[in-house]
Amino acid sequence: MDFDLLVIGAGSGGLASAKRAARHGAKVGIIEGDRVGGTCVIRGCVPKKLLVYGSEYREILANAASYGWAVGSTGCNSSVLLENVRQEVDRLNGIHIKALANAGVELITGWGQFVDAHTVQVGDQQFTARQIMVAVGGRPQRLTIPGGELGWVSDDLFLQQHLPSSMLIIGAGYIACEFACILQGLGVAVTQVIRGDRILKGFDQELSDSVREGMEELGVTLRFGLQPTAIEQTQSAMVLRCGETALEADVVLQAAGRKAFLEPLALEKAGIAHDGHRISVDAQQRTNVPHIYAVGDVTDRINLTPVAIDEGRAVADALFASGTRTVNHDLVATAVFTQPELASVGLSEEDAKERFGTDAITIHKARFRDMHQALPKRGPRCLLKLVVETSSDRVLGCHMVGSHAAEIIQMGAIALGMGATKADFDRTMALHPSISEEFVTMG
Ligand code: FAD
Repeated sequence: MDFDLLVIGAGSGGLASAKRAARHGAKVGIIEGDRVGGTCVIRGCVPKKLLVYGSEYREILANAASYGWAVGSTGCNSSVLLENVRQEVDRLNGIHIKALANAGVELITGWGQFVDAHTVQVGDQQFTARQIMVAVGGRPQRLTIPGGELGWVSDDLFLQQHLPSSMLIIGAGYIACEFACILQGLGVAVTQVIRGDRILKGFDQELSDSVREGMEELGVTLRFGLQPTAIEQTQSAMVLRCGETALEADVVLQAAGRKAFLEPLALEKAGIAHDGHRISVDAQQRTNVPHIYAVGDVTDRINLTPVAIDEGRAVADALFASGTRTVNHDLVATAVFTQPELASVGLSEEDAKERFGTDAITIHKARFRDMHQALPKRGPRCLLKLVVETSSDRVLGCHMVGSHAAEIIQMGAIALGMGATKADFDRTMALHPSISEEFVTMG
Protein backbone atom coordinates (compact mmCIF):
# COMPACT_ATOMS: atom_id res chain seq x y z
CA MET A 1 0.00 0.00 0.00
CA ASP A 2 1.22 3.54 -0.80
CA PHE A 3 -0.26 5.15 2.32
CA ASP A 4 -1.60 4.37 5.79
CA LEU A 5 -4.15 7.14 5.27
CA LEU A 6 -5.21 8.76 2.01
CA VAL A 7 -7.38 11.86 2.42
CA ILE A 8 -9.51 13.15 -0.46
CA GLY A 9 -9.98 16.91 -0.05
CA ALA A 10 -7.60 19.44 1.51
CA GLY A 11 -10.19 21.59 3.25
CA SER A 12 -10.83 22.09 6.96
CA GLY A 13 -11.51 18.43 7.83
CA GLY A 14 -9.01 16.82 5.46
CA LEU A 15 -6.08 19.06 6.39
CA ALA A 16 -6.66 18.65 10.12
CA SER A 17 -6.87 14.89 9.83
CA ALA A 18 -3.87 14.49 7.53
CA LYS A 19 -1.55 16.58 9.70
CA ARG A 20 -2.69 14.90 12.93
CA ALA A 21 -2.25 11.40 11.41
CA ALA A 22 1.24 12.29 10.14
CA ARG A 23 2.13 13.61 13.60
CA HIS A 24 1.17 10.18 14.97
CA GLY A 25 3.68 8.63 12.56
CA ALA A 26 1.34 7.51 9.77
CA LYS A 27 2.30 7.72 6.09
CA VAL A 28 -0.28 10.16 4.74
CA GLY A 29 -1.27 11.45 1.31
CA ILE A 30 -3.85 14.18 0.64
CA ILE A 31 -5.53 14.78 -2.72
CA GLU A 32 -6.80 18.24 -3.68
CA GLY A 33 -8.40 19.18 -6.99
CA ASP A 34 -8.70 22.90 -6.33
CA ARG A 35 -6.76 25.10 -3.90
CA VAL A 36 -5.40 23.79 -0.61
CA GLY A 37 -7.44 25.30 2.22
CA GLY A 38 -10.89 24.34 0.97
CA THR A 39 -14.08 26.29 1.34
CA CYS A 40 -13.29 28.00 4.64
CA VAL A 41 -9.96 29.49 3.59
CA ILE A 42 -10.48 30.06 -0.12
CA ARG A 43 -14.18 30.90 -0.57
CA GLY A 44 -15.90 30.80 2.80
CA CYS A 45 -15.30 31.88 6.40
CA VAL A 46 -12.01 33.73 5.93
CA PRO A 47 -12.59 35.93 2.86
CA LYS A 48 -16.18 36.45 4.00
CA LYS A 49 -15.15 37.71 7.45
CA LEU A 50 -12.60 40.04 5.88
CA LEU A 51 -15.34 41.48 3.69
CA VAL A 52 -17.56 41.82 6.78
CA TYR A 53 -14.82 43.90 8.44
CA GLY A 54 -14.54 45.97 5.26
CA SER A 55 -18.25 46.63 5.01
CA GLU A 56 -18.58 47.55 8.72
CA TYR A 57 -16.53 50.69 8.08
CA ARG A 58 -19.59 52.27 6.55
CA GLU A 59 -21.32 52.42 9.95
CA ILE A 60 -18.11 53.18 11.83
CA LEU A 61 -17.44 56.17 9.59
CA ALA A 62 -21.06 57.30 9.72
CA ASN A 63 -20.88 57.34 13.53
CA ALA A 64 -17.47 59.00 13.73
CA ALA A 65 -18.78 62.60 13.76
CA SER A 66 -20.76 62.02 16.94
CA TYR A 67 -17.46 61.14 18.64
CA GLY A 68 -15.92 64.38 17.39
CA TRP A 69 -14.07 62.99 14.39
CA ALA A 70 -14.07 64.91 11.12
CA VAL A 71 -13.60 62.28 8.44
CA GLY A 72 -14.60 64.22 5.34
CA SER A 73 -16.22 62.43 2.45
CA THR A 74 -15.96 58.66 2.50
CA GLY A 75 -16.38 55.89 -0.02
CA CYS A 76 -15.19 52.34 -0.51
CA ASN A 77 -13.03 51.29 -3.42
CA SER A 78 -14.26 47.71 -3.55
CA SER A 79 -11.52 46.73 -6.05
CA VAL A 80 -8.87 47.48 -3.41
CA LEU A 81 -10.76 45.52 -0.76
CA LEU A 82 -11.36 42.51 -3.02
CA GLU A 83 -7.72 42.47 -4.13
CA ASN A 84 -6.43 42.72 -0.55
CA VAL A 85 -8.71 39.88 0.51
CA ARG A 86 -7.39 37.76 -2.36
CA GLN A 87 -3.81 38.46 -1.30
CA GLU A 88 -4.60 37.32 2.25
CA VAL A 89 -6.25 34.16 0.90
CA ASP A 90 -3.12 33.51 -1.22
CA ARG A 91 -0.96 33.93 1.88
CA LEU A 92 -3.06 31.45 3.86
CA ASN A 93 -3.10 29.00 0.96
CA GLY A 94 0.73 29.11 0.96
CA ILE A 95 0.84 28.56 4.73
CA HIS A 96 -1.39 25.48 4.47
CA ILE A 97 0.75 24.00 1.67
CA LYS A 98 3.89 24.58 3.74
CA ALA A 99 2.27 23.08 6.84
CA LEU A 100 1.51 19.87 4.91
CA ALA A 101 5.14 19.63 3.78
CA ASN A 102 6.39 20.31 7.32
CA ALA A 103 4.12 17.58 8.65
CA GLY A 104 5.44 15.12 6.05
CA VAL A 105 2.10 14.78 4.26
CA GLU A 106 2.34 14.15 0.52
CA LEU A 107 0.16 16.57 -1.47
CA ILE A 108 -1.31 15.06 -4.63
CA THR A 109 -2.82 17.63 -6.98
CA GLY A 110 -5.88 16.66 -9.01
CA TRP A 111 -9.39 15.29 -8.61
CA GLY A 112 -9.65 11.93 -6.85
CA GLN A 113 -11.93 9.15 -8.02
CA PHE A 114 -12.35 5.72 -6.46
CA VAL A 115 -11.14 2.73 -8.46
CA ASP A 116 -11.95 0.28 -5.68
CA ALA A 117 -12.22 0.36 -1.88
CA HIS A 118 -8.44 0.74 -1.42
CA THR A 119 -7.48 2.62 -4.61
CA VAL A 120 -8.02 6.21 -5.75
CA GLN A 121 -7.18 7.52 -9.21
CA VAL A 122 -5.87 11.06 -9.79
CA GLY A 123 -5.25 11.87 -13.46
CA ASP A 124 -3.42 8.84 -14.82
CA GLN A 125 -1.95 7.80 -11.46
CA GLN A 126 -3.40 5.38 -8.92
CA PHE A 127 -2.76 5.45 -5.17
CA THR A 128 -3.52 2.70 -2.68
CA ALA A 129 -4.16 3.08 1.04
CA ARG A 130 -5.07 1.02 4.10
CA GLN A 131 -7.55 3.68 5.24
CA ILE A 132 -9.24 6.39 3.20
CA MET A 133 -10.96 9.57 4.32
CA VAL A 134 -13.51 11.40 2.20
CA ALA A 135 -13.41 15.11 3.08
CA VAL A 136 -14.65 16.66 -0.15
CA GLY A 137 -17.01 19.23 1.35
CA GLY A 138 -19.88 20.80 -0.54
CA ARG A 139 -20.65 23.13 -3.40
CA PRO A 140 -23.18 25.93 -3.85
CA GLN A 141 -26.31 24.71 -5.60
CA ARG A 142 -27.90 26.56 -8.47
CA LEU A 143 -31.67 26.67 -8.82
CA THR A 144 -33.19 24.25 -11.29
CA ILE A 145 -35.26 26.91 -13.07
CA PRO A 146 -34.94 28.38 -16.57
CA GLY A 147 -31.80 30.56 -16.47
CA GLY A 148 -30.56 28.81 -13.32
CA GLU A 149 -27.07 28.79 -14.85
CA LEU A 150 -27.05 32.62 -14.87
CA GLY A 151 -25.76 34.91 -12.14
CA TRP A 152 -23.35 34.24 -9.31
CA VAL A 153 -23.07 31.72 -6.51
CA SER A 154 -21.21 32.60 -3.32
CA ASP A 155 -17.83 31.43 -4.72
CA ASP A 156 -18.05 34.07 -7.47
CA LEU A 157 -18.10 37.08 -5.17
CA PHE A 158 -14.47 36.49 -4.19
CA LEU A 159 -13.35 36.42 -7.85
CA GLN A 160 -14.72 39.85 -8.78
CA GLN A 161 -12.56 42.86 -9.66
CA HIS A 162 -15.27 45.30 -8.58
CA LEU A 163 -18.83 45.19 -7.35
CA PRO A 164 -22.01 45.95 -9.28
CA SER A 165 -24.39 48.78 -8.30
CA SER A 166 -27.36 46.57 -7.51
CA MET A 167 -27.89 42.95 -6.64
CA LEU A 168 -30.68 40.46 -6.04
CA ILE A 169 -29.76 37.78 -3.51
CA ILE A 170 -31.86 34.62 -3.48
CA GLY A 171 -31.99 32.81 -0.14
CA ALA A 172 -32.79 33.26 3.54
CA GLY A 173 -29.97 31.25 5.15
CA TYR A 174 -26.87 32.56 6.83
CA ILE A 175 -24.79 32.90 3.67
CA ALA A 176 -27.52 34.89 1.87
CA CYS A 177 -28.00 37.20 4.88
CA GLU A 178 -24.28 37.72 5.47
CA PHE A 179 -23.68 38.51 1.79
CA ALA A 180 -26.65 40.91 1.79
CA CYS A 181 -25.12 42.89 4.68
CA ILE A 182 -21.60 42.82 3.25
CA LEU A 183 -22.72 44.06 -0.15
CA GLN A 184 -25.13 46.67 1.19
CA GLY A 185 -22.36 47.94 3.47
CA LEU A 186 -20.02 48.22 0.49
CA GLY A 187 -22.51 50.40 -1.36
CA VAL A 188 -24.41 47.84 -3.46
CA ALA A 189 -28.23 48.25 -3.43
CA VAL A 190 -29.32 44.80 -2.24
CA THR A 191 -32.72 43.17 -2.48
CA GLN A 192 -32.94 39.79 -0.79
CA VAL A 193 -35.55 37.45 -2.22
CA ILE A 194 -37.00 34.97 0.26
CA ARG A 195 -39.41 32.13 -0.45
CA GLY A 196 -40.91 31.92 3.05
CA ASP A 197 -41.88 34.54 5.61
CA ARG A 198 -38.67 34.75 7.65
CA ILE A 199 -34.90 34.75 7.42
CA LEU A 200 -32.48 32.45 9.31
CA LYS A 201 -34.92 29.60 9.86
CA GLY A 202 -33.53 27.22 12.46
CA PHE A 203 -32.37 30.06 14.70
CA ASP A 204 -34.47 31.40 17.57
CA GLN A 205 -37.26 33.37 15.86
CA GLU A 206 -36.95 36.43 18.07
CA LEU A 207 -33.25 36.64 17.23
CA SER A 208 -33.79 36.27 13.51
CA ASP A 209 -36.52 38.95 13.69
CA SER A 210 -34.01 41.20 15.42
CA VAL A 211 -31.44 40.61 12.66
CA ARG A 212 -34.12 41.32 10.09
CA GLU A 213 -34.87 44.71 11.69
CA GLY A 214 -31.16 45.54 11.72
CA MET A 215 -30.73 44.52 8.08
CA GLU A 216 -33.64 46.69 7.04
CA GLU A 217 -32.16 49.59 9.01
CA LEU A 218 -28.90 49.01 7.10
CA GLY A 219 -30.86 49.49 3.88
CA VAL A 220 -31.28 45.89 2.64
CA THR A 221 -34.68 45.40 0.98
CA LEU A 222 -36.18 42.09 2.08
CA ARG A 223 -38.88 40.62 -0.16
CA PHE A 224 -40.73 37.68 1.39
CA GLY A 225 -43.04 35.09 -0.16
CA LEU A 226 -41.38 35.09 -3.57
CA GLN A 227 -40.55 31.82 -5.32
CA PRO A 228 -38.01 32.29 -8.14
CA THR A 229 -39.28 30.83 -11.40
CA ALA A 230 -36.76 32.10 -13.98
CA ILE A 231 -33.65 34.20 -14.43
CA GLU A 232 -33.07 36.17 -17.61
CA GLN A 233 -30.21 38.30 -18.87
CA THR A 234 -31.28 41.41 -20.79
CA GLN A 235 -28.89 43.93 -22.37
CA SER A 236 -28.96 46.21 -19.36
CA ALA A 237 -29.77 43.97 -16.36
CA MET A 238 -30.59 40.57 -14.97
CA VAL A 239 -34.25 39.85 -14.38
CA LEU A 240 -35.46 37.49 -11.69
CA ARG A 241 -38.99 36.29 -12.26
CA CYS A 242 -40.98 35.07 -9.29
CA GLY A 243 -44.30 34.13 -10.85
CA GLU A 244 -46.01 37.42 -11.76
CA THR A 245 -43.31 39.51 -10.07
CA ALA A 246 -40.22 40.59 -12.02
CA LEU A 247 -37.24 42.08 -10.19
CA GLU A 248 -34.21 43.65 -11.86
CA ALA A 249 -30.61 44.22 -10.82
CA ASP A 250 -27.11 44.18 -12.26
CA VAL A 251 -26.47 40.72 -10.85
CA VAL A 252 -28.47 37.87 -9.31
CA LEU A 253 -26.64 35.96 -6.57
CA GLN A 254 -28.00 32.49 -5.85
CA ALA A 255 -27.45 31.58 -2.19
CA ALA A 256 -30.26 29.12 -1.69
CA GLY A 257 -28.32 26.03 -0.62
CA ARG A 258 -25.23 23.84 -0.82
CA LYS A 259 -24.79 20.17 -1.59
CA ALA A 260 -22.07 17.58 -0.85
CA PHE A 261 -19.66 17.29 -3.79
CA LEU A 262 -20.16 13.58 -4.49
CA GLU A 263 -20.40 13.36 -8.26
CA PRO A 264 -16.75 13.04 -9.34
CA LEU A 265 -15.86 10.47 -6.65
CA ALA A 266 -17.40 7.33 -8.21
CA LEU A 267 -18.37 6.19 -4.69
CA GLU A 268 -20.10 3.11 -6.05
CA LYS A 269 -16.72 1.67 -7.14
CA ALA A 270 -15.72 1.54 -3.47
CA GLY A 271 -19.19 0.43 -2.37
CA ILE A 272 -19.76 3.57 -0.27
CA ALA A 273 -23.45 4.11 0.46
CA HIS A 274 -24.91 7.61 0.02
CA ASP A 275 -28.28 9.19 -0.72
CA GLY A 276 -27.07 11.58 -3.43
CA HIS A 277 -26.89 14.42 -0.90
CA ARG A 278 -24.47 13.13 1.72
CA ILE A 279 -22.48 10.17 3.00
CA SER A 280 -23.83 8.67 6.23
CA VAL A 281 -21.33 7.87 8.97
CA ASP A 282 -21.42 6.39 12.47
CA ALA A 283 -20.15 8.07 15.65
CA GLN A 284 -16.57 7.16 14.65
CA GLN A 285 -17.07 8.87 11.23
CA ARG A 286 -17.01 5.44 9.53
CA THR A 287 -18.97 4.91 6.32
CA ASN A 288 -20.61 1.54 5.56
CA VAL A 289 -17.15 0.45 4.30
CA PRO A 290 -15.23 -0.05 7.57
CA HIS A 291 -11.85 1.37 6.49
CA ILE A 292 -13.36 4.40 4.70
CA TYR A 293 -14.26 7.49 6.76
CA ALA A 294 -16.05 10.72 5.93
CA VAL A 295 -15.85 14.04 7.77
CA GLY A 296 -17.13 17.58 7.38
CA ASP A 297 -19.73 18.97 5.01
CA VAL A 298 -19.86 15.80 2.91
CA THR A 299 -21.71 14.22 5.85
CA ASP A 300 -24.10 17.23 5.95
CA ARG A 301 -24.76 17.34 9.69
CA ILE A 302 -23.35 20.54 11.19
CA ASN A 303 -21.60 22.23 8.31
CA LEU A 304 -19.08 24.37 10.12
CA THR A 305 -15.29 24.50 9.98
CA PRO A 306 -14.55 23.67 13.65
CA VAL A 307 -16.81 20.62 13.41
CA ALA A 308 -15.01 19.32 10.29
CA ILE A 309 -11.63 19.88 11.97
CA ASP A 310 -12.64 18.09 15.15
CA GLU A 311 -14.09 15.15 13.22
CA GLY A 312 -10.92 14.86 11.13
CA ARG A 313 -8.67 14.91 14.18
CA ALA A 314 -10.81 12.39 16.06
CA VAL A 315 -10.45 9.90 13.20
CA ALA A 316 -6.67 10.38 13.04
CA ASP A 317 -6.39 9.91 16.82
CA ALA A 318 -8.54 6.78 16.71
CA LEU A 319 -6.60 5.22 13.83
CA PHE A 320 -3.05 6.06 14.80
CA ALA A 321 -3.03 6.87 18.53
CA SER A 322 -5.66 4.54 19.96
CA GLY A 323 -7.96 7.51 20.55
CA THR A 324 -11.50 6.73 21.64
CA ARG A 325 -12.97 10.22 21.56
CA THR A 326 -16.12 10.78 19.54
CA VAL A 327 -17.11 14.26 18.43
CA ASN A 328 -19.78 15.94 20.51
CA HIS A 329 -22.27 17.44 18.07
CA ASP A 330 -24.38 18.91 20.88
CA LEU A 331 -24.03 22.49 21.97
CA VAL A 332 -22.09 23.63 18.91
CA ALA A 333 -21.97 27.41 19.01
CA THR A 334 -22.68 29.16 15.74
CA ALA A 335 -22.61 32.72 14.47
CA VAL A 336 -24.14 34.67 11.63
CA PHE A 337 -21.92 37.58 10.65
CA THR A 338 -24.73 39.85 9.60
CA GLN A 339 -24.95 43.45 10.72
CA PRO A 340 -26.05 43.13 13.50
CA GLU A 341 -24.24 39.90 14.32
CA LEU A 342 -26.12 36.89 15.70
CA ALA A 343 -24.60 34.08 17.75
CA SER A 344 -26.19 31.19 19.47
CA VAL A 345 -25.52 28.05 21.46
CA GLY A 346 -28.02 25.46 22.62
CA LEU A 347 -31.75 25.33 22.14
CA SER A 348 -33.86 28.11 20.69
CA GLU A 349 -37.00 29.10 22.61
CA GLU A 350 -39.14 27.24 20.04
CA ASP A 351 -37.06 24.04 20.18
CA ALA A 352 -36.90 24.05 23.98
CA LYS A 353 -40.67 24.50 24.28
CA GLU A 354 -41.29 21.77 21.73
CA ARG A 355 -38.94 19.35 23.50
CA PHE A 356 -39.81 20.08 27.14
CA GLY A 357 -43.26 21.71 26.91
CA THR A 358 -44.09 25.42 27.04
CA ASP A 359 -44.69 25.44 30.83
CA ALA A 360 -41.31 23.83 31.53
CA ILE A 361 -39.30 26.70 30.05
CA THR A 362 -38.51 30.16 31.40
CA ILE A 363 -37.21 32.85 29.09
CA HIS A 364 -34.99 35.69 30.30
CA LYS A 365 -34.07 38.46 27.93
CA ALA A 366 -32.72 41.95 27.66
CA ARG A 367 -33.15 44.29 24.74
CA PHE A 368 -31.26 47.55 24.84
CA ARG A 369 -29.10 50.01 23.00
CA ASP A 370 -25.39 49.25 23.22
CA MET A 371 -23.51 52.13 24.91
CA HIS A 372 -21.42 52.52 21.77
CA GLN A 373 -24.59 53.75 20.04
CA ALA A 374 -25.46 56.32 22.72
CA LEU A 375 -23.74 59.24 21.02
CA PRO A 376 -24.68 58.48 17.40
CA LYS A 377 -28.23 57.69 18.64
CA ARG A 378 -28.64 55.11 15.89
CA GLY A 379 -28.00 51.48 15.12
CA PRO A 380 -29.75 48.20 15.87
CA ARG A 381 -30.64 47.21 19.44
CA CYS A 382 -28.93 44.29 21.16
CA LEU A 383 -30.97 41.28 22.20
CA LEU A 384 -29.62 38.83 24.79
CA LYS A 385 -31.66 35.78 25.66
CA LEU A 386 -31.39 32.80 27.98
CA VAL A 387 -33.62 29.75 27.60
CA VAL A 388 -33.87 27.99 30.97
CA GLU A 389 -35.40 24.68 32.04
CA THR A 390 -37.54 25.86 34.98
CA SER A 391 -37.37 22.73 37.14
CA SER A 392 -33.58 22.24 37.03
CA ASP A 393 -32.64 25.89 36.42
CA ARG A 394 -30.28 24.60 33.68
CA VAL A 395 -29.54 27.04 30.86
CA LEU A 396 -30.52 25.26 27.64
CA GLY A 397 -29.86 28.11 25.22
CA CYS A 398 -27.78 31.27 25.22
CA HIS A 399 -28.39 33.65 22.34
CA MET A 400 -27.42 37.10 21.28
CA VAL A 401 -27.83 39.68 18.55
CA GLY A 402 -25.44 42.61 18.74
CA SER A 403 -21.82 43.70 18.58
CA HIS A 404 -19.27 40.97 19.24
CA ALA A 405 -22.00 38.33 19.63
CA ALA A 406 -19.72 35.57 18.30
CA GLU A 407 -16.93 36.45 20.74
CA ILE A 408 -19.35 36.52 23.66
CA ILE A 409 -21.30 33.37 22.83
CA GLN A 410 -18.06 31.38 22.45
CA MET A 411 -17.59 31.90 26.21
CA GLY A 412 -21.26 31.14 26.87
CA ALA A 413 -20.73 27.79 25.13
CA ILE A 414 -18.19 26.81 27.81
CA ALA A 415 -20.72 27.56 30.53
CA LEU A 416 -23.48 25.59 28.81
CA GLY A 417 -21.10 22.70 28.15
CA MET A 418 -20.42 22.56 31.88
CA GLY A 419 -24.14 22.43 32.61
CA ALA A 420 -24.45 25.97 33.99
CA THR A 421 -27.68 26.99 35.69
CA LYS A 422 -29.31 30.40 35.68
CA ALA A 423 -28.11 30.73 39.29
CA ASP A 424 -24.51 30.18 38.06
CA PHE A 425 -24.98 33.02 35.58
CA ASP A 426 -26.49 35.24 38.33
CA ARG A 427 -23.67 34.41 40.77
CA THR A 428 -21.10 35.72 38.28
CA MET A 429 -20.06 39.30 38.98
CA ALA A 430 -20.81 41.63 36.09
CA LEU A 431 -18.02 43.20 34.05
CA HIS A 432 -19.07 46.79 33.63
CA PRO A 433 -19.65 48.53 31.31
CA SER A 434 -20.06 45.79 28.72
CA ILE A 435 -22.82 44.34 26.59
CA SER A 436 -22.43 40.83 27.92
CA GLU A 437 -22.88 41.85 31.57
CA GLU A 438 -26.61 41.70 30.83
CA PHE A 439 -26.26 37.88 30.69
CA VAL A 440 -25.45 37.87 34.41
CA THR A 441 -27.75 40.68 35.55
CA MET A 442 -31.02 39.97 33.75
CA GLY A 443 -33.83 38.99 36.12
P1 FAD B 1 -14.15 21.89 2.39
O1 FAD B 1 -13.52 22.93 3.23
O2 FAD B 1 -15.19 22.31 1.41
O3 FAD B 1 -12.97 21.15 1.63
C1 FAD B 1 -13.19 20.17 0.69
C2 FAD B 1 -12.05 20.16 -0.29
O4 FAD B 1 -12.12 18.98 -1.07
C3 FAD B 1 -12.09 21.32 -1.27
O5 FAD B 1 -10.85 21.99 -1.27
C4 FAD B 1 -12.37 20.67 -2.63
O6 FAD B 1 -11.75 21.33 -3.71
C5 FAD B 1 -11.77 19.29 -2.42
N1 FAD B 1 -12.36 18.24 -3.26
C6 FAD B 1 -13.66 18.00 -3.50
N2 FAD B 1 -13.82 16.90 -4.26
C7 FAD B 1 -12.56 16.44 -4.50
C8 FAD B 1 -12.05 15.34 -5.23
N3 FAD B 1 -12.88 14.46 -5.82
N4 FAD B 1 -10.71 15.19 -5.31
C9 FAD B 1 -9.88 16.07 -4.71
N5 FAD B 1 -10.30 17.13 -4.00
C10 FAD B 1 -11.64 17.30 -3.89
N6 FAD B 1 -18.08 27.77 8.66
C11 FAD B 1 -17.81 28.31 9.87
O7 FAD B 1 -17.51 27.57 10.81
N7 FAD B 1 -17.85 29.67 10.06
C12 FAD B 1 -18.15 30.52 9.05
O8 FAD B 1 -18.19 31.74 9.25
C13 FAD B 1 -18.43 29.98 7.77
N8 FAD B 1 -18.69 30.79 6.73
C14 FAD B 1 -18.90 30.26 5.50
C15 FAD B 1 -19.15 31.12 4.42
C16 FAD B 1 -19.37 30.62 3.17
C17 FAD B 1 -19.64 31.56 2.04
C18 FAD B 1 -19.35 29.22 2.95
C19 FAD B 1 -19.59 28.67 1.59
C20 FAD B 1 -19.10 28.35 3.99
C21 FAD B 1 -18.87 28.86 5.28
N9 FAD B 1 -18.62 28.04 6.37
C22 FAD B 1 -18.39 28.57 7.61
C23 FAD B 1 -18.66 26.56 6.23
C24 FAD B 1 -17.25 25.99 6.15
O9 FAD B 1 -16.53 26.62 5.14
C25 FAD B 1 -17.36 24.49 5.90
O10 FAD B 1 -18.18 23.90 6.89
C26 FAD B 1 -15.98 23.81 5.93
O11 FAD B 1 -15.11 24.38 5.01
C27 FAD B 1 -16.15 22.31 5.65
O12 FAD B 1 -14.91 21.70 5.59
P2 FAD B 1 -14.72 20.34 4.77
O13 FAD B 1 -13.35 19.86 5.07
O14 FAD B 1 -15.87 19.45 5.02
O15 FAD B 1 -14.85 20.75 3.24
